[in-house]
This record gives sequence, structure tokens and C-alpha cells, in this order.
Amino acid sequence: MNLRVLQRGFNYSQDGPGNRLVYHLQGCNLHCPWCSNPESMALDGGKETSCEALVRQCVAAEPMFFDGGGVTFTGGEPTVQFEALKAVLAGLKENNIHTAIETNGTNPRLPELFELVDFLIMDFKHYDSDKLKSFTGVGNNILKKNIISAAEKRTQLLLRIPLIKGFNASTVDAERFCEFLKPIWHSGIKLELLRYHEYGKDKWLYTGMEYKMQDAFVSDELFEEICTIFKSNSITLIKT
Ligand code: SF4
Repeated sequence: MNLRVLQRGFNYSQDGPGNRLVYHLQGCNLHCPWCSNPESMALDGGKETSCEALVRQCVAAEPMFFDGGGVTFTGGEPTVQFEALKAVLAGLKENNIHTAIETNGTNPRLPELFELVDFLIMDFKHYDSDKLKSFTGVGNNILKKNIISAAEKRTQLLLRIPLIKGFNASTVDAERFCEFLKPIWHSGIKLELLRYHEYGKDKWLYTGMEYKMQDAFVSDELFEEICTIFKSNSITLIKT
């Protein structure tokens, strides 16, 4: 079995604890107009690597996994290549390597990976399914189910909300996110709010796609108000 890899590289504590080897896997089932890696959306790009070779690469890189580091799979959406991802995660666990994935959470089979993943990062882009679908092409029913399931079963869960004006970044939106999160919250869960940026804009142009986002930045003042709402609901915010 092979995995399609777009790129790989090390980073420190941004995609899980410690120093990590991060694989961006090719392909995504969503089409977010703000995506900073639009070249990762197509299912057929990237470079194919066998699961065995990828596990060997990770084992060879083990001396670099300091401060509790390990390997992270992000994307694109890593669960698009579900079987191969599962096989690689199992191979890493056999070698006692710390594993993390960053996922958009919309794969109904995601809970099958929980026992193979030490640190789970899930995007929670919108509490409203129709709104999410109208922007990305996919609703949030499975995502919400997976968040609840992860919150029940896991101690290490980082949720990420990309704050985008005109999509999910009003104070009313913040209250609605809290309504969903508060009943399932526990001390093992953290939330990171990521303000809209345009780092990927040039890539959209290079890949011949139109960048349609406009006026989506969140002001400092609004960001502070939103943070205050989450904190007043006892939701722990972090910044990686
Ligand atoms: S889920 Fe992530 S990788 Fe997929 S299109 Fe959206 S931002 Fe891009």
C-alpha cells in the first residue's frame, strides 16, 4: 500500500508536542475557499511512498523527536487515504513512536484511528452544517459526532477553529460554538482560535484557481471579544 505525500518537514510544537516530522498528505474532501494549501486538495497529486518505506523514514528520524516529539500527518486531509494512513500509524505504534494527526474530522471512520493516535488535532470550522456545506461542500454532522466521540474517549485533543469574518467570527457565532462545546468539555481538551490569513493566496493563483475570499480578517478588538466569550464558558484556549 502507498501513501501520496505532498511534502514533509520538521516543526516544533505546532502540530503536536515536541519536535515533529510532519507529513502533508495529498487530497482533501473539502474545498475551503481560504485553504492555505490549495495544491493539496486534488486527490491525484503528490509523490507515492510505500507505507513500509514511510515507517522506515520515521524510525530513522527518531533521534530528532526530542521534547516528546514524533510524527504528525496533516494535509490536505490525511483520512482521505484511510487504509494507508491506518497502516502507517500502526507501524509507528509498533515502533513506539508518538503519533498525531490533524484532520477536518469529517471521515465517519475516524474513531477507528483513535487507539493509534496519541495526539488528535481536529478542525471545528462551523457549528452550523448548512453554513459549512455552503462554503466547503461538506456539512458537519459527522464532524460533530466525531468531536463528541473524541471528547469522550481521549485525553489529548486539540480543536482548532479558523476565525473567518462573514463565516464564523461574530460574537453570536462564538456563543453558538460554546453551546456545543461546553457540555463535552474536559481538562484534556484545548481549543485554538486561528485568525484568518492570506498565506495561501499566491498558491491559488499559481495553481490557476480563483481566490474568492474578501474582507475576511478579524480585527484585534473582535478577536478579544470572541476569546472572552470562550473563556467565560470555561473553555481553555491555547496558542501553538
Ligand atoms: S479541510 Fe483543510 S486542507 Fe481541506 S480544503 Fe479545507 S483548509 Fe484545505
